[in-house]
Amino acid sequence: MSIWYTEKHTPHSGITMEVKKSVYYGESEFQTLEILDTFEFGRMLLLDGVVMLTERDEFVYHEMLAHVPLNTHPSPEKVLVIGGGDGGTVREVLKHPQVKDVTLVEIDRMVVEAALTHLPGISEGLRDPRTRIVYGDGVRFVADSPPGTYDVILVDSTDPVGPAEALFSEDFFRNCENALGPDGVFVCQSESPFYHLPFMVDIFRRMDGIYPLVGFYLAAIPTYPSGNWSFLMGSRTAETTFPQCREHAQLQTKYYDRHIHLASFALPRFLAEALTK
Ligand code: SAM
Repeated sequence: MSIWYTEKHTPHSGITMEVKKSVYYGESEFQTLEILDTFEFGRMLLLDGVVMLTERDEFVYHEMLAHVPLNTHPSPEKVLVIGGGDGGTVREVLKHPQVKDVTLVEIDRMVVEAALTHLPGISEGLRDPRTRIVYGDGVRFVADSPPGTYDVILVDSTDPVGPAEALFSEDFFRNCENALGPDGVFVCQSESPFYHLPFMVDIFRRMDGIYPLVGFYLAAIPTYPSGNWSFLMGSRTAETTFPQCREHAQLQTKYYDRHIHLASFALPRFLAEALTK
């Protein structure tokens, strides 16, 4: 008998993949967590039944979430990651030798513990001496952060529902801007242009009123809805034009490089036009 996992992206479409076995299942006060072993994408992490990452394609998302802002900032040393309890984003941030410390604020301890046990290649950075893990709500943590604390803030959240919904609010964006230093750079994962265009336009407009420079960049992530995913970046200084690629270090990557960095800001016409309406 074959077992198939299906994630519906809309009421009438989605992805499906064949599963070898279930590796772990857990429930917390926030969500359910499953790790499935699949025939073609390795181990897959699901939260409330939604794909967060697979071992086969997680490098695309985590490299692009981390290296574009870190190579945009002139000299990133203090980094804050909101969400990201699987550790993939932290692993990439730590590839930058000038980064002195990374604070990860994850609301659900279960995610970190499951990743450390069952996804060692992704969670390895969570044990690094430069990494500090705080279990709590990123909304509150940022609101309580002193002005100018961080050089880069990365929001690696679930979709904008439940505890993650407030991570896309104007108040949160404003509090992040306040917590950033003068050259500070903010990035959040910002969903799919094919399926979530109105949402993307809304958050772009919210950010546009807070940061002097705001822009989307894109990446191809096979297991995310439509395979075309976006990130929204804001810069506290207008001196840093987008795209801007300062190569601080020779990075070991499989997707990201200078060319991808620069090209990722080229938007398809339907998205660019939606932002100017
Ligand atoms: N890469 C995935 C994606 O794009 O869908 C997200 C990865 S990561 C697993 C998302 C994390 O955000 C989850 O572990 C979830 O617990 C966490 N999270 C959601 N809302 C949060 C909040 N308000 N504060 C801190 N962490 C939050």
